[in-house]
Amino acid sequence: MSSAAHEKPTTEAFRAEARAWLADNLVRSTGGGGDGESAGPAKVAADKVLQARIFDGGFAGITWPKAYGGQGLTDAEMQAWVEEAAGYVQPGIYDQPFGVCGPTIVDLGSEEQKQRYIPKLLRGEEVWCQLFSEPGAGSDVAGLTTLAERDGDEWVVNGQKVWTSGAQHSDFGTLIARTDPSVPKHNGISMFIVDMRTPGLTVRPLRTATGETPFNEVYFDNVRLPADALLGEENGGWAATVLMLRHERIYYGTIARPPVRALSYGALLALARKDGRSRDPLVRDRLAWLYALDTAGDLLSQRMRQEVDAGQELRARGSIAKLAGAVITRQAIDAFDEVVGSDAVVWAGPRDDYPTAIRGMVGAPAQGIAGGSNEIQRGIIGERVLGLAKDPQLDREIPFSELRRIPAARVATNAI
Ligand SMILES: Cc1cc2nc3c(=O)[nH]c(=O)nc-3n(C[C@H](O)[C@H](O)[C@H](O)COP(=O)(O)OP(=O)(O)OC[C@H]3O[C@@H](n4cnc5c(N)ncnc54)[C@H](O)[C@@H]3O)c2cc1C
Repeated sequence: MSSAAHEKPTTEAFRAEARAWLADNLVRSTGGGGDGESAGPAKVAADKVLQARIFDGGFAGITWPKAYGGQGLTDAEMQAWVEEAAGYVQPGIYDQPFGVCGPTIVDLGSEEQKQRYIPKLLRGEEVWCQLFSEPGAGSDVAGLTTLAERDGDEWVVNGQKVWTSGAQHSDFGTLIARTDPSVPKHNGISMFIVDMRTPGLTVRPLRTATGETPFNEVYFDNVRLPADALLGEENGGWAATVLMLRHERIYYGTIARPPVRALSYGALLALARKDGRSRDPLVRDRLAWLYALDTAGDLLSQRMRQEVDAGQELRARGSIAKLAGAVITRQAIDAFDEVVGSDAVVWAGPRDDYPTAIRGMVGAPAQGIAGGSNEIQRGIIGERVLGLAKDPQLDREIPFSELRRIPAARVATNAI
């Protein structure tokens, strides 16, 4: 547990405490290279030290239950922390553990699982990844073919995952696999906790055009998992998947918005002023749009956090936050492009105040794909928030093992 747990401070008192602690304990971000770099072993080690410091300071897991090492505070304090910490170098390898895997374990894990995994996750000692997407199952993640078969007290897993962010430095992963192919595809899936060092599991980093390796292929070759690796109900993995994706969408749409940190209205205005570009009408137009969207995005985040604090379920509306984050980021890229002109294409940068923003720019379009593409979010918002007609879902009632007998053209994708 953290050594400095907070005793229900007011949000303003918490903010003042966080501000003072940050000034004493973290390093101010330069906005130059380094902050957003790809995670090699040295960066992973440095991030672990940094996260342990944040945990010991009493600022990890601000809204998480105290019983598992969190602070038991509200989203108002979380927001105060995000705002105060924005100007500091923060550990970069914990979005998946904090935003995706951890909250799902808190919701669905057994008491033993929560006690075993959550404190170490919050302290940053153990890093997590999400093993969902497969070469043939991305938007249609329920079409996954990785198989987990019972063998006595164990599960034997065979198959392949792809685009697994951070798998190369993860200790654990949350895996979804098919445990009953004889039922329709959504009904025969289970979720598991996987020790990434289990024999038979191979992680192969995927190198992107920038030379970085943000994600991986993960192969399962007769990987044996203990019975207690099951997270939630056997064959109840679809509900767990939807829950995890909702956590992910709300987190990335409200708390994280990673590329926007480097491409915020404030950061781009400062850059434009420094470069003498702030009087240019096109630059002003782009920045004005960004200001409007950034402000609307912040208000949306605030409203959603207040609803969560008030005990209201956001459910499918998490997709609105996720989509908004991706759209705002797109606008930020356009504004950055207008401010710096052709220098935006230079990766190493002629200036030391570009690299983080350029990294943000190159990575930003991925925000409209990761965690479910913009098209998928629009589909969810249309059907489940606005109540529009559903797409035909011909494969919903058919046992997964029979699906392949249907000509592909007849099967509408049944996206989440
Ligand atoms: C940066 C990044 C990090 C990622 N990290 C992870 C991770 O850690 N773990 C993990 O499991 N996965 C991860 N992913 C994978 C991500 O979840 C998938 O890429 C995403 O769900 C899309 O799946 P796909 O790539 O297979 O594209 P496809 O599903 O093949 O989609 C291709 C195109 O078709 C469109 N499309 C598909 N179905 C529909 C439909 N029903 N209606 C309208 N349009 C549709 C899509 O919008 C897209 O434009 C990551 C992806 C990125 C970019």
